[in-house]
Amino acid sequence: MSTRRDFLEKITISAIGLPLIYNSTNLFAAATLHEEGEILNVAILGLGSYGERVADAMQDCKRAKLVGLISGTPSKLTEWGAKYNIPEKNRYNYETYDQIKDNPDIDAVYIITPNALHKEAALRVAKASKHVISEKPMGLNAEEGQAMIDACKAAGVHLLVGYRLHFEPKTVAVIKMRQEGAFGKLNFFQGQTGFDIGDPTQWRLDKDLAGGGSLMDIGIYSINGARYITGEEPIWVTAQETKTEPEKFKEGVDETIQFQLGFPSGIVASCLSTYNMRYLDRFYLAGDEGFAEMQPSTGYGPIEGRTHKGKLTQPHTTHQTLQMDGMARIIYDNEQPIVPVDGEEGLKDLKIIDAIYKAVETGEKVEL
Ligand code: NAD
Repeated sequence: MSTRRDFLEKITISAIGLPLIYNSTNLFAAATLHEEGEILNVAILGLGSYGERVADAMQDCKRAKLVGLISGTPSKLTEWGAKYNIPEKNRYNYETYDQIKDNPDIDAVYIITPNALHKEAALRVAKASKHVISEKPMGLNAEEGQAMIDACKAAGVHLLVGYRLHFEPKTVAVIKMRQEGAFGKLNFFQGQTGFDIGDPTQWRLDKDLAGGGSLMDIGIYSINGARYITGEEPIWVTAQETKTEPEKFKEGVDETIQFQLGFPSGIVASCLSTYNMRYLDRFYLAGDEGFAEMQPSTGYGPIEGRTHKGKLTQPHTTHQTLQMDGMARIIYDNEQPIVPVDGEEGLKDLKIIDAIYKAVETGEKVEL
């Protein structure tokens, strides 16, 4: 891993005019340095709506830069290439992108495709010796997640997951308060995440591409939130599914799931995940000595919230800008966010997702 001292050494080297710098995971990384540190040069794979949000947000990054595009649609490569000033040599399609192995301009690939494609892409990117950033959910299940971790480990590259809220200032403030004991003994967490999905033909409602339904897409925020707000890992799960529109939400695509998580200290979490209700984006934490309430708690922001001490006043910055700068610091400065965004973190959520689906199917309490 690069350290701050490594960085200072690189500055010295670059000051005497050498065109390439040493990088512990990629010997031929481009010599792109910013006064705040080494730049993470990123290619986006999957040029859809979230990919565009990330690409736009990266224009304001200090430590990350969009330098490459991977898409199955030639017209998108042309349009995005022009919009983001990406040279043709850094544009790839799904047949050619293994060649990024030989492209020193690219340090990492950010996979922003439908969920079912994350694993295969991650394995190919790792094989090309580039760092992997995957959107959430990291894979379709824990088995896929583990395969992604193993592949990245074997290739000596980082595996990071797009958990943008781990860099979000109000979220970080609540986590810090909990770490400092401001809420006293924690008793209860409530996570309500859902929205009205709309268009019945989209991939999010196709089991093969999504791997499930609301839980994979939006319920995961309640799972992840329950973990980062309480700071504990659940030891059991119970869950119940309700379906009001079986035509739209077919077999294997959950419309609404309510689930409960039990934590080692006795905290319980009660969560709702849905694709068919509105105005649900709220976290609530109750302790013996205080509370935190965040609403909205997971949207693109601004996140709003208050605790028993008063309103959360940390300023809003575009989440994806903070995330990508933060990921550069993880990779080059070995500087971790308050809660990790690595493959192990992604795997923890996938194990809980597997357990929730099992609890729905069996009607039983599932131990983790
Ligand atoms: P989208 O449909 O807008 O974009 C998906 C992209 O993948 C499209 O460009 C599409 O052409 C491409 N694609 C490649 N192969 C495909 C295939 N076989 N079928 C369909 N599309 C294919 O979806 P999105 O909203 O950008 O979501 C992409 C990923 O990003 C998902 O994993 C999702 O969970 C994640 N996401 C994360 C956040 C967040 O806040 N972290 C927000 C939205 C989406």
